[in-house]
Amino acid sequence: MTKYIFVTGGVTSSLGKGIIAASLAKLLQDRGFSVTIQKFDPYINVDPGTLNPYEHGECYVTEDGAETDLDLGHYERFLNKPTSQANNVTTGRIYQTVINKERDGDYLGKTVQVIPHITDEIKRRVRLLEEENAYDIIITEIGGTVGDIESLPYLEALRQFRREAGKDNCVVIHLTLIPYLKAARELKTKPTQHSVKELLQAGIQPDILVCRTEYPLPRELREKLALFCNVDEKSVIEAIDADTIYDVPLLMLKEKLDKTVLKKLNLKSSKEPELLHWKEFLGKLKNPTREVYIALVGKYNELQDAYKSIYEAFVHAGAVNECKVRVIPIHSETLENGDAPLKLKSMDGLLVAPGFGERGIKGKLEAIKYAREHKLPFFGICLGMQCAVVEYCNNVLGMKDAASTEVNPKAKHPVIDLMPEQKKITAKGGTMRLGAYKCRIAKNTLASRIYGKSEITERHRHRYEFNNDYLDKISEAGLIPSGVNPDSGLVEIVEMKNHPFFIGVQFHPELKSTVENPHPLFVHFIRAALQSKNT
Ligand code: GLN
Repeated sequence: MTKYIFVTGGVTSSLGKGIIAASLAKLLQDRGFSVTIQKFDPYINVDPGTLNPYEHGECYVTEDGAETDLDLGHYERFLNKPTSQANNVTTGRIYQTVINKERDGDYLGKTVQVIPHITDEIKRRVRLLEEENAYDIIITEIGGTVGDIESLPYLEALRQFRREAGKDNCVVIHLTLIPYLKAARELKTKPTQHSVKELLQAGIQPDILVCRTEYPLPRELREKLALFCNVDEKSVIEAIDADTIYDVPLLMLKEKLDKTVLKKLNLKSSKEPELLHWKEFLGKLKNPTREVYIALVGKYNELQDAYKSIYEAFVHAGAVNECKVRVIPIHSETLENGDAPLKLKSMDGLLVAPGFGERGIKGKLEAIKYAREHKLPFFGICLGMQCAVVEYCNNVLGMKDAASTEVNPKAKHPVIDLMPEQKKITAKGGTMRLGAYKCRIAKNTLASRIYGKSEITERHRHRYEFNNDYLDKISEAGLIPSGVNPDSGLVEIVEMKNHPFFIGVQFHPELKSTVENPHPLFVHFIRAALQSKNT
């Protein structure tokens, strides 16, 4: 029988509910349970695919092509298990389903209301995951903060769910903040008391409090929280600020969060979490023997979350190489006036990021030109790969006016062009080429050395592609297609001959890098950067 854990947040946003949920899931997984994590997002967009990265950070794409919240990236990186559309549901999607049903006449004769129709749909989404796979435990993270208007239907659904499932089968964890008042030199519990009160008003008594804090929680404070918030003392868990998110599972283990949860769920486990591989990874991460500087050229650099999975993939790849990867964000617009050599001179590698639209393209092309000419290891992802093709055509093949039609619809040489199936699409939501597709890798190439196999699958999110009308010309000139989709012939990987490491990929390898399986492209890119540093 499946057991359920709900995670709510109080006091402020950005407390790291996703990391706490993923850390708890990791501990339970290591004990032998099959676990998945789901996120409910209380906004009205049907998915985050139409949101600007500045608004919401990276849009994380799953194997089945769902555009989802970046917390799903943490779930996959921690659990090393793929997620799917069912793991991320927004208010928009809930309402869309209910409204479609109403139009179909499913509720004929009835007034459609938040209770029971919206709350029923929310509960159904939890159970849907269970139908997909018989999990031992489903963790559901409710986005937003208790007290938000948008969160109310979720809390009501949670209240009902718990009533139906029974207390032994459903635990509520409330993640809250214990602020430190410098002037008073004191940690304060009042905001937590208030946020628990809000939960109680919604009919939910939390079972466990996870308290985010800058300083250790003294015993008396734990007692006070337990008394005022009506939980037992063992259920007050300290979540102290960590050096890295990857410390959090071990911190939660120390605080016995997993044990407390299992006890409340009446679950027995024969094995204590060992996290052997995880600890080995952390050991390497914390004791690097060398370092490299990688320029990350993009246009959403103000917000690290916009490239979350890329940063994390570098953490994984750095640890494998026992190397500290210092990612230096460079705004592509700052490279437009001939500054690329100056800014890239001291770098050991260049990554050109994914993106959309015309802004910042010129700087990306300048950066790629520098990497090509100076044999600086280069790794282009999605738009980064497309830019590499454009740069090559203009500066090596001398095409003059080669461009992506995303940037210049009238380009004389549309070397990157809209995919044919995209030409008739006007709607923006969920209409890109999304999710996992196969790619066949050519023998004796850098790509085949990196992957060590002839067929791979990777995840996608794009509308434009390498224009195969130019394939022969470009590859004869030395930029070869080393990975191609076997069904459509779409070029997935390009690489440059006579360069130590110059590779561009149409897909998003960063989405598949996990602690247990660091992505080989990132691992080899860091290796190449280390080599270039030493030569
Ligand atoms: N804008 C490009 C496209 O749609 C690249 C997308 C991306 O980098 N994710 O094809």
